[in-house]
Amino acid sequence: MNFEYTEKSKDLQARVQQFMEEHIYPRETAHREFVRTHLWQHFPEAEQLKQLAKEAGLWNLFLPQTYGEFSPGLTNLEYAPLAELMGRVLWSSEIFNCSAPDTGNMEVLAKYGTPEQQTQWLTPLMEGKIRSAFLMTEPEVASSDATNIETSIVRDGDDYVINGRKWWSSGAMNPSTEIYIVMGKTDPSAHRHVQQSMILVPANTPGVKIIRPLEVYGSWDSPEGHAEIDLVDVRVPASNLLLGEGRGFEIAQGRLGPGRIHHCMRLIGAANRALELMCKRVAVRETFGKKVMDYSSIRQEIAKSRCEIEQARLLTLAAADKIDRFGVKAAKDLIAMIKIVVPQMACTVIDRAIQAHGGLGVSQDTPLTEFWRYARTIRIADGPDEVHMYQLGRNTAKQLVETRLIASLRTKCDESHSKQPKHR
Ligand SMILES: Cc1cc2nc3c(=O)[nH]c(=O)nc-3n(C[C@H](O)[C@H](O)[C@H](O)COP(=O)(O)OP(=O)(O)OC[C@H]3O[C@@H](n4cnc5c(N)ncnc54)[C@H](O)[C@@H]3O)c2cc1C
Repeated sequence: MNFEYTEKSKDLQARVQQFMEEHIYPRETAHREFVRTHLWQHFPEAEQLKQLAKEAGLWNLFLPQTYGEFSPGLTNLEYAPLAELMGRVLWSSEIFNCSAPDTGNMEVLAKYGTPEQQTQWLTPLMEGKIRSAFLMTEPEVASSDATNIETSIVRDGDDYVINGRKWWSSGAMNPSTEIYIVMGKTDPSAHRHVQQSMILVPANTPGVKIIRPLEVYGSWDSPEGHAEIDLVDVRVPASNLLLGEGRGFEIAQGRLGPGRIHHCMRLIGAANRALELMCKRVAVRETFGKKVMDYSSIRQEIAKSRCEIEQARLLTLAAADKIDRFGVKAAKDLIAMIKIVVPQMACTVIDRAIQAHGGLGVSQDTPLTEFWRYARTIRIADGPDEVHMYQLGRNTAKQLVETRLIASLRTKCDESHSKQPKHR
């Protein structure tokens, strides 16, 4: 792959960076204070900032160019460095309408939605008028294996009736969230990967009940939040089903590829900013008669962090490039690799930065604790590390054994060929 960004991407990087400097960084402290003290309320300046981002042409940049009329025309590789910039201030991605889980949900609607579903839900999502949530995980079953999911989606005349309990539904506490994509089973007797379907459920449908928000290391992640939700005899029109019965896994696979690039690039942005903050801090603090920066142990931490960030970035760009050129399926091993490598790298780098800040590092006065919570939870969300390793390990062993088998067959074939008597 070519590691040089296109002119289009470089131009957008400069514009996103300028926007961040003019409008985002100056509001970081005010935003942190507001969300801490005003539960489930929007930062008052958010709408005005979104309008400015729209006017600056920095809106919906995430949607890959394969989505035709809906896409602003960037490839995953072109968008990746923009996600990295947004990762420097975690709430900024919403200002550009590029935040999870809406990005994944918009992709699902753009790719699999009917024209009616797109008019009703994709258009307002792309305009930033509403927000959405993705309801897959359930408290009663190990949801790392999505075939375990028990929520039922049962056809009844012209409707589907949904029953189940979900949790960790990110974004569902947000007062602007109006639509859920719910995963459940339409046919529990079918083959294990075609039992599941996805269906659109408006948040205000009778029978939908938010039980409670879940805390993440003591934070509510307001205003988005993560909800536990009961679905009791929730009835929606049959036309709300996405793609068709039994196609839930297929949709889930398509949804997760680019989404993982976004998460990983944001984490790389967060890790890089943590390293910058660490370098600034150790350059001005002194202990035992010398700058903290001048201790060899600290320089080693900085050097290791820089190497690890660069390695992770190149791996993620390689995954983005592979998706662009060969599709999500062909890139599945690289996507698994970045999901394993990047959140762990970010946890390590951010933790070093926290340590180098001393008490300040664990306080509310830097973005480091937020960064760490994000990196740590991404090791679980979208599939825990172990599940990706389990699958990547299997694929790798299979590929290597197959390659060796083919190579040994070739050698045997060549040997027997060379033993044949030569015709004169
Ligand atoms: C902050 C946050 C946001 C989230 N947002 C959403 C969301 O918006 N929508 C949604 O549906 N879900 C969401 N989730 C849920 C997340 O996707 C699940 O928590 C995750 O898939 C794991 O499922 P589980 O919690 O049921 O853990 P389990 O399935 O019970 O797994 C527990 C542990 O078992 C181990 N394990 C599992 N399989 C293997 C294996 N093959 N090999 C070795 N060890 C293994 C791992 O250590 C794993 O962490 C979110 C989670 C968090 C923390």
